[in-house]
Amino acid sequence: MSPNKPQVSVLGLGMMGSALAAAFLKAGHPVTVWNRSPAKTGPLVAQGALPAETAAEAVAAGNTVVVCLLTNDNVQELFDTLGDAVSGKTLVNLTNGTPAQARELSAWATQHGADYLDGGIMAVPQMIGGPHAYVFYSGPQQTFEAHRETLAVLGGTKFAGTDPGLAALNDLALLTGMYGMVLGVMQAFALVRTENIPATEFSELLVPWISAMLAGAPEWAKAVDSGEHLTDVSSLAVNQAAFPNFLATFRDQGVSPELFEPFQAILDRAIEQGYEADGLSRIADLLKK
Ligand code: NDP
Repeated sequence: MSPNKPQVSVLGLGMMGSALAAAFLKAGHPVTVWNRSPAKTGPLVAQGALPAETAAEAVAAGNTVVVCLLTNDNVQELFDTLGDAVSGKTLVNLTNGTPAQARELSAWATQHGADYLDGGIMAVPQMIGGPHAYVFYSGPQQTFEAHRETLAVLGGTKFAGTDPGLAALNDLALLTGMYGMVLGVMQAFALVRTENIPATEFSELLVPWISAMLAGAPEWAKAVDSGEHLTDVSSLAVNQAAFPNFLATFRDQGVSPELFEPFQAILDRAIEQGYEADGLSRIADLLKK
């Protein structure tokens, strides 16, 4: 522990909160920890953390108060019990949540005299403090700059903007891309397994295929930003004509089409609206409500 390093408090010692607290300890910060179920403080106390009996005690001990609970509803409940005890502190909430929740929590913090940064962690606990972890932060830029060095022990620090909702938005958008990919991979595995092709064998084809397709994303992004979706690669007309083959094959092979049926509806809508010559990038516009 180094006396020159800012005192950090960590509220919430689940898998992620424990990894965050351990990283601060490893970097030499004095760390106070609090968890609803006190038993989880044990391993961190063994690493040099001070246990707080109450959340208010932990808040009082820290300059930077890092919060990592399961949901932002849990965070709001906890903040309500703290009230003005947060006054003068910087709350850094790394709980996964929505942009709207982040804005509400930020407004609550301001009303109670605290600075607030919202964060979105792009790592699993084992990656915290390592070279591939990073965290999005949003809120007042000077608050971010004042705490950046401390927060950097967790991983890279990416400032998403002064609107407190932007860290959550970036986080959720990255995870949206991930979930889309995972669902496609699982559907492909489910399909090949109907003919006893092992998923492990098929993944050797799937991984390079998806990687090659993903290399087109920067071009799709240019089309989305410019609104110029005309393509000479693969038109919506061609995709709309082919897509019934996917749904029919899923049904014929005994695989649920439920994940992919909505895509047929979007392709049909694209054609109805006259976008047959456009590429798949048009879908980002069609999804906008
Ligand atoms: P865990 O389930 O391991 O921990 C949840 C934590 O929230 C525990 O400390 C739990 O306390 C606490 N908690 C739950 N409800 C309440 C409540 N009502 N009041 C006070 N404390 C409460 O989850 P993780 O640590 O894995 O995740 C924490 C956050 O980090 C989540 O928002 C998650 O989405 C996010 N995250 C997690 C990642 C991961 O890979 N694990 C990756 C990126 C983000 P108790 O021990 O008493 O139950």
